[in-house]
Amino acid sequence: MNVKELSPTTRAFNNFSFLMLMFGLPLFVCYAILAVVQHGGAVVLPDANFWSGLPGINWTVVAVYLGWLLFQGFMFHFLPGKTEAGQPLKTGERLNYKLNGMLSFLISIGLWATLHFTGLVPGNWIYLHFAELFIAANVIAWPFALCMFFLGRRQATDEEKQTNALEAFFVGATLNPRIGSFDWKFFAESRPGLTLWVLVALSCAAHQYETSGFITNSMLLTSFFVTLYIADYYFHEDAILTTWDMVHEPFGWMLCWGSLIYVPFFYPMAALWLAENPYVLPSWAAVAIGVLGLTGYVIFRQCNIQKHHFRKNLQKKIWGKPPEFIQTQRGSKLLVSGWWGVASHANYLGDLMLSFAMCVVVGTGSIFGYSYFLVFVPLLLHRDWRDDKHCADKYGDDWKAYRKRVRWHIVPGIY
Ligand code: NDP
Repeated sequence: MNVKELSPTTRAFNNFSFLMLMFGLPLFVCYAILAVVQHGGAVVLPDANFWSGLPGINWTVVAVYLGWLLFQGFMFHFLPGKTEAGQPLKTGERLNYKLNGMLSFLISIGLWATLHFTGLVPGNWIYLHFAELFIAANVIAWPFALCMFFLGRRQATDEEKQTNALEAFFVGATLNPRIGSFDWKFFAESRPGLTLWVLVALSCAAHQYETSGFITNSMLLTSFFVTLYIADYYFHEDAILTTWDMVHEPFGWMLCWGSLIYVPFFYPMAALWLAENPYVLPSWAAVAIGVLGLTGYVIFRQCNIQKHHFRKNLQKKIWGKPPEFIQTQRGSKLLVSGWWGVASHANYLGDLMLSFAMCVVVGTGSIFGYSYFLVFVPLLLHRDWRDDKHCADKYGDDWKAYRKRVRWHIVPGIY
């Protein structure tokens, strides 16, 4: 909706929500980190004594975090990779993206392993400085988001310029802020935060080994699933170009803070808790969690790749048969075979199963271990609702026909 069409009350409510999220989310993540790292994962009263555990700004750690961003930016820009065109913009133009995420990921993991095994930097450095790193990432991410606001305002279309300053800062001033060919949204969303998520898990495992002399099956499972999830993401990097965030979401504080901080500092809470609490799962539970996570991964991967292949090549068989689809008036085809014939977002189901497997490894140890899953459920439900509305607006009666054939959202038979 055009911002001019919003009533003053709606606009005031939106602005209030943006402010609440911008200040509430960092506080909440900070609370969770301190609760896990300093209070054994217990839910404690956040009184003055609790907050006194918050470290100040450590400028060496800020420099390390900045170095991390620069290192990732350098690889993003200079490493070789095949170039793919993004989805058409409103103008019909298609931006080019260089895909070298897997190479950057492997180099990053290799660098961490080299520093660890040569004894130059202990593998648990990230764990030991976790709260300080969180502060450092905020010290960098906020001014970075402000720069993106000014850059975005300069590059915004006339329509985008109508958003008020607060909304433009929070949601984003423009869809694809760029300097030359450097795409800031693609970089921030797909590189430093996601790879750091894996390194946090590995660092927690290194810490557990350092302090207990072994790595528990729970830690192995959660680290394995995170690594699998992110390696898979880079392996299918071209599929990122068709995701909602890349196609529809402007680049503002929300995506910037979410990608740089929320993902690597909040999602790995299970590993963070296990680092100091070496909980060993009974063998049957470890096997059950392994099966759950791998099944989730297979559903997630199959579902995403079926749509991806279908949009690229109509002849490609799905589950051994030529794909069935609904031809829309808009020109696109809606797949009704494979997972897309079972539910409209079975990929979210697979993703949720995998995220639950990453978290349930803590057993009843700490509610914070479940952070990723607990925030992921409402996030994906909202995403499903938003996508359904988007498709209903875009495809009209054709979407009604799709919904008639495919009744379920996410969980067949239940939702
Ligand atoms: P999807 O990949 O599910 O794509 C939705 C889009 O697909 C729709 O907008 C529509 O686009 C098109 N579409 C819908 N129905 C059909 C159909 N039947 N046939 C063909 N095309 C169809 O959306 P997301 O971008 O939300 O998710 C991508 C992946 O990323 C998911 O697996 C999700 O789980 C994951 N994810 C992970 C997050 C994390 O933090 N770990 C966060 C968010 C997502 P069009 O307009 O082109 O028709």
